[in-house]
Amino acid sequence: MSASAHAGEGAQPVPDGLRHDVERPHVQGSSTAPAVARVALDVPLPTLFDYLLPSAAELRAAPLIGRRVRVPFGRGSRIGIILEAVAQSSLPVDRLKSVLEVFHDEPALDADVLDLLQFATRYYHHPIGGSVFTALPRRLRDGARSTSPRAEALRLTESGHLLAPGAVSKKAVLQRRLLDALAARAPVPIERLQQIGASARKVLRDWVQCGWIEACALEMSVASPSAARPPEVVPTLTSAQLGAVQAVLAAPAQFAPFLLRGVTGSGKTEVYLHLAASCLASGRQALVLVPEIGLTPQLLQRFEARFPAAELIVLHSDLSEGQRLQRWRAAQSGRPCVVIGTRLAVFTPLPGLGLVVVDEEHDLSYKQQEGLRYSARDLALLRGKMRSVPVVLGSATPSLESYANVRAGRYRLLELPERADARPPHIHCVDTRRMQLRHGLSVHLLDALRARLERGEQSLVFVNRRGFAPALVCAACGWTCPCTRCSARLVVHLKAQQLRCHYCGHVQPVVRACPDCGNQDLLPAGHGTQRIEQALQEALPNARVLRVDRDTTRGREAFSALHARIRDLEVDVLVGTQMMAKGHDFPRLTLVGVINADSSLYSSDFRAAERLYAQLTQVAGRAGRAELPGEVIIQTAFPDHPLYAHVCRQDFHAFAEEALQERREMRFPPFAHQALLRAEATRREAVEGYLQRAAAHGAALGHEVEIFDPVAPPIARVAGRERAQLLVQAGSRVALQRFLDEWVPSLPDRSVRWSLDVDPVDY
Ligand code: ADP
Ligand code: ZN
Ligand code: ZN
Repeated sequence: MSASAHAGEGAQPVPDGLRHDVERPHVQGSSTAPAVARVALDVPLPTLFDYLLPSAAELRAAPLIGRRVRVPFGRGSRIGIILEAVAQSSLPVDRLKSVLEVFHDEPALDADVLDLLQFATRYYHHPIGGSVFTALPRRLRDGARSTSPRAEALRLTESGHLLAPGAVSKKAVLQRRLLDALAARAPVPIERLQQIGASARKVLRDWVQCGWIEACALEMSVASPSAARPPEVVPTLTSAQLGAVQAVLAAPAQFAPFLLRGVTGSGKTEVYLHLAASCLASGRQALVLVPEIGLTPQLLQRFEARFPAAELIVLHSDLSEGQRLQRWRAAQSGRPCVVIGTRLAVFTPLPGLGLVVVDEEHDLSYKQQEGLRYSARDLALLRGKMRSVPVVLGSATPSLESYANVRAGRYRLLELPERADARPPHIHCVDTRRMQLRHGLSVHLLDALRARLERGEQSLVFVNRRGFAPALVCAACGWTCPCTRCSARLVVHLKAQQLRCHYCGHVQPVVRACPDCGNQDLLPAGHGTQRIEQALQEALPNARVLRVDRDTTRGREAFSALHARIRDLEVDVLVGTQMMAKGHDFPRLTLVGVINADSSLYSSDFRAAERLYAQLTQVAGRAGRAELPGEVIIQTAFPDHPLYAHVCRQDFHAFAEEALQERREMRFPPFAHQALLRAEATRREAVEGYLQRAAAHGAALGHEVEIFDPVAPPIARVAGRERAQLLVQAGSRVALQRFLDEWVPSLPDRSVRWSLDVDPVDY
């Protein structure tokens, strides 16, 4: 819409609508100089906004697409991104306002990133401005100048490396010390250099001018500064690894998706490292996506150790905004580098992209759960396709979606056999139906724990926490303590002596007596990690028990500290949740006990079994090494369940075939494609009425889709707002998208707050 309309004449979308807008090819470079910029703004409207471009010839001549602008909007101004430049607007010229400023001295957003964002906008049915701004570092959204963001680090250039030592007098102590610090040629944080001496700042400035040193992104050092570390010895690949590496490298210069399957420790990371090395050697850039950086410090350290001289750009959520922008610009420069990042990194501008890796591709944290609800894994595949580069999805337990793509011949399967450095653990079930449990712990498990304790080995008690947070229960009448603002039950936090709501954050003191029957003996039910920790401590008084969960590991620092304590054998028994299952390596950990796994067998979520299989496989991978074989004990009331049989044999193919067959029969994804319309309002009738109207309207459109009845999600009321959701399902992606294209524009309604989730993973 035109800016002038926004200045007070009421908002109107551009007449021809967004979805058509963004599909139209850019007209940049056409013979008539564009006069009008179509700009994406961070507003919740599915449209671009038209503005007149300044007449200065150099601005119009420069590439315009992807450039940042400041434009008048409402009573103030906003930052936008030019997505199109056209000769004229469909609105009368006298209604258009002019662009206030074109940020022409900074690089424009790359075309392929814009294409990816435009795809995401259409596919996830999100306003275009919201999508584009999702991808940008906050500094750029806020309108800060980004031409010379403060550098994080400096490093020696090629000429600096050759010239500097001889060119500095032996008596120039400060210069000598600065050179020593830079000698390894790895990036050194500017702060550290400046601490070397009072006039370091000036010397460094001079050297930058001479071209001896250059600003660069800081190599992410989770470990100690990597200064003079020699390059590590690269292991010779096993034949399976070599086969995988060669298959990827031999892929013709076109989109080539691979699924690399191998249990933890089978050598997947080694394959990534070889592929990244080849990428760097050919002067290109590799993008490595990981689910959560804080939980995979070892992967980072391996990349650092392998490529001490290469630029390693780490992007995760706890960077300062300055760092984020600096690193984003470093990637955008096109210099050879490896970018390691969480899901948002899929939007990083990488002009030299040569490889995409998605590690732990099955991990649900690749799906963004608010705003632009994208799947970083799916967009990573698209990015590879747009750039004609190989994409490697790695996992011990691939998602059934990816596995089905292998079955359909769309992805190539590369498999690594079992771990090279360890025998597979012995996995077995303990039938808990006819035994007394002590706070959820069986005698078998306690005996096994004692045996490890005597041998000086470590154990992990893995608590499957889904649906098992300890609520306060009255054993006499069955009353459980509810949250006053939600329909959730409050969770007992023993240490703090509090009840907390994990949905809305409500906190209150522990209730002493049952309000229904007066019973004063209220007990926490279920087995939260805190209760297990306490029970273990009582049963094994000599053991050093350590609980690892979100509460005990706020921040990355805390987690590495815990990690170090475990490796230094300061801990005998670990109690942990999902986060303990991820890629850590504790050589003396030989026993894993699994409790509470059964709740996932009969969950209402059709993906619960897949998640359980993945978790148990991952956690089993924590136990044992070649010299110290591992054991996994699964406590269950359903020891004959086929899923446990597959877990015990570690037979992924059998599990996947069976699960896929079930999905096919039930018509669940990947044999159906879904979208979930979520809505919330203060009154239940309002949400349900809204969804019923939306469903009726959708049905009237006459598409080949199934529209289910509105339902309340497991937690129907959060912070005083009622929630409900409506599932739409179609036999193909195309059919679903055709329906959504027509349906979504009719959804806006001021009476409720709503959002659409395409390919939802959480219901
Ligand atoms: P994954 O990523 O599948 O968990 P890694 O690549 O981390 O597996 O390998 C597990 C361990 O085995 C690591 O310590 C790694 O250094 C080692 N390793 C991997 N491949 C080889 C190899 N070809 N030769 C010797 N050691 C290897
Ligand atoms: Zn009671
Ligand atoms: Zn609550």
